[in-house]
Amino acid sequence: MTQVLHIVGGGMAGSEAAWQAAEMGVDVVIHEMRPNVGTFAHQTGNLAEMVCSNSFRSDDDEQNAVGLLHWEMRSANGLIMTTADAHRLPAGGALAVDRDLFAEDVTARLRAHPRVTVTDEEVSSLPDDGQWIFATGPLTSPALGQAIQVETGAEALAFFDAIAPIVYADSIDMSQAWMQSRYDKGETEEERTAYLNCPMDRDQYEAFIDALLAADKAEFHEGETAGYFDGCLPIEVMSERGRETLRHGPMKPVGLTNPHQPDVKAHAVVQLRRDNALGTLFNIVGFQTKMKYGAQTEVFRMIPGLENASFARLGGIHRNTFINSPTLLDAQMRLKSKPNIRFAGQITGVEGYVESAAMGLLAGRLAAAEILGRELPEVPQDSAMGALIHHITGGAEAKTFQPMNVNFGLFRPVEGLKGGRRGRKDRYKAYTDRAKAEWTNWLAQC
Ligand SMILES: Cc1cc2nc3c(=O)[nH]c(=O)nc-3n(C[C@H](O)[C@H](O)[C@H](O)COP(=O)(O)OP(=O)(O)OC[C@H]3O[C@@H](n4cnc5c(N)ncnc54)[C@H](O)[C@@H]3O)c2cc1C
Repeated sequence: MTQVLHIVGGGMAGSEAAWQAAEMGVDVVIHEMRPNVGTFAHQTGNLAEMVCSNSFRSDDDEQNAVGLLHWEMRSANGLIMTTADAHRLPAGGALAVDRDLFAEDVTARLRAHPRVTVTDEEVSSLPDDGQWIFATGPLTSPALGQAIQVETGAEALAFFDAIAPIVYADSIDMSQAWMQSRYDKGETEEERTAYLNCPMDRDQYEAFIDALLAADKAEFHEGETAGYFDGCLPIEVMSERGRETLRHGPMKPVGLTNPHQPDVKAHAVVQLRRDNALGTLFNIVGFQTKMKYGAQTEVFRMIPGLENASFARLGGIHRNTFINSPTLLDAQMRLKSKPNIRFAGQITGVEGYVESAAMGLLAGRLAAAEILGRELPEVPQDSAMGALIHHITGGAEAKTFQPMNVNFGLFRPVEGLKGGRRGRKDRYKAYTDRAKAEWTNWLAQC
């Protein structure tokens, strides 16, 4: 008799994982704590409830990385995408849905599947045997959070994210910025030049502080605490504490020499650090923020060198339970210390309905294949699915790991194409063409 696959959490990731595994011929039990145990954001007992916006974002599969993920999930018979298509609402280029009909339909399709059982129960430990996928999301129940922390260590499980904006490297003006670590610290040339520095004179700094103070800020959701951790204060909160605070914190100008103007001492310096192994993305160090997205782009483009910056993601601080996947998971999303357990969805450090469902799709297929004694080929890194799983299970910097949306900065460059804004359309088309071919080829081998 084949082993049962247990899936904890019937949200975006758990629902998709269950569907994929069941369609491969594996019996699945979904353990979903709602409606018996609630969260501050969920309103119903339905599976795949959308807790906030009713949008799956851009549906453009040629020029947008999330649209490409839609395409890959549709071609893998993804439950979340095909159900979303059935309940689509007019939304221009975006895929928006009727959230109630969508979640009711996902729930009905899973409950009607002959290989799926749904139990309304909270799971609060990590079992030693059986095959399990934990897809309990950003609002994982406290009891389970504690069990995960015991297994992984306190450092490896976060209850809040503190996201600094991430910039595409090729959109930074290097005629103003330069690479240097403070005091040239580091054993190797790579370490001595690990940071990208953007200098400000006094006037630029003062204007920047004024803009920070005046910017529109987002409120915390009900149920999130407005208390901040030491060491991850939003930059606008730091600037409210005094106009010089940032100059003594993340923007201190010491230990750095601007090779473009070696005789001029910068009044403040904004530092960016590499965010992925490919070197295509840089995060602005210490710039976690609750500013609204529109305000962020305006304010951050005041930084010399970032006037034309393209952002792979903007900053934020949210209630969000996630593990340090780059250190804890293997390439198959298994917990290294307990390989009978996989993680999927937002708890792995991806962010968004689509990315979470995508990681559920992969976890479901990988777990089902293991149960069936089949070996799946490695997920192709040049597909959107592959770029994401590769990022969370190894490509991301483990020390500064924060949740990530899918974006083209996670993709390996296509050789011979023009960089910068001008080449963007051709470059994105080349990424999406390559991804579709690789993904189709992978699916054919599964
Ligand atoms: C307040 C808030 C607003 C958000 N807004 C958006 C948005 O607008 N757009 C967007 O794309 N993303 C948004 N997100 C992120 C969104 O939650 C995720 O993108 C997506 O829902 C994650 O999918 P998931 O399957 O990983 O988690 P979820 O969809 O949250 O599913 C996890 C499931 O696990 C269950 N569960 C938790 N603990 C246990 C347990 N111990 N035992 C059994 N079941 C358990 C939960 O009840 C839940 O059903 C928001 C998140 C929050 C918290």
